[in-house]
Amino acid sequence: MPGDYTGRFAPSPTGLLHAGSLVAALASWLDARSRGGRWLVRIEDVDTPRCVPGADQAILQQLAACGLVPDGPVVWQSQRSDLYADALQTLVKKGWAYPCGCSRKDIESAQTVARHSAAVYPGTCREGLDGKPARAWRLNVRAMQEALGLPAITSWQDRRLGPQQQNVNEEVGDFVLRRADGLWAYQLAVVVDDAAQGITHVVRGQDLADNTARQIVLQHALGLPTPQYLHTPLVLGTNGEKLSKQNGAMALDVANPQAALSALNGAAQVLGLPSVPEHTSPEQALHKWTILAASQSMFLGVPHPRRDNLRL
Ligand SMILES: [Zn+2]
Repeated sequence: MPGDYTGRFAPSPTGLLHAGSLVAALASWLDARSRGGRWLVRIEDVDTPRCVPGADQAILQQLAACGLVPDGPVVWQSQRSDLYADALQTLVKKGWAYPCGCSRKDIESAQTVARHSAAVYPGTCREGLDGKPARAWRLNVRAMQEALGLPAITSWQDRRLGPQQQNVNEEVGDFVLRRADGLWAYQLAVVVDDAAQGITHVVRGQDLADNTARQIVLQHALGLPTPQYLHTPLVLGTNGEKLSKQNGAMALDVANPQAALSALNGAAQVLGLPSVPEHTSPEQALHKWTILAASQSMFLGVPHPRRDNLRL
């Protein structure tokens, strides 16, 4: 239904787009277009120490070279601190956010069993700081869920991965809303922005799937709607790990329409869409794939990964 769909692509400007990030960009664009929806771009630069100056503009140029042009103004999270501060204030007023004085070392040493690669926060400061200075702000997950009558297990239906669930309190703990270094936490910024931008459909890489339960928990806490989620297949590097800026993924070469088409063809293949012939323009290629995506064939032929590979 036209008008009922707003999607987004939300890159972090820690480097240029690579083959993996183009998959998420293309999938979100095609999903929006094939449903007559809008597609927005948001630069996720809250983690300022990790951002590379100029990478934001370079990413927007790479997208434009591939014919992926947003339908509204681009927003930068680094300019939206007031919105995040308001959200934290809302949670503090409800008694669902509290200051935490723990260092990373405190949290790790309080762990009796290492259940996950990232330490589960044991709730040390839930009842007070015990004289420690406040470092970060955390969400009291259980208090919030109980107050709202929500189950401890957060469930959702991923459009590609199927039914998903996580007990955030047990598997993550009271997660950070504002970091010890004063920066806004990714989860809070994403949830506030998705709602502020009216995002109805989130299409993003599968590496972000295990953030979804925390984001749904925060949506409930802030009284915000939950979008539909679709997590796209990852592009693996030669070492079998997810292709990322961290393991040296090459920036996409989109210097001319031929190069852009080749990059788009690679991304389309990951989505289960057919390649288009050389000398097709990026715009013509997008048009063809939009028609295919509208007939539900996006991701057909892409095997669904086993859920236990997901760390959910
Ligand atoms: Zn603490």
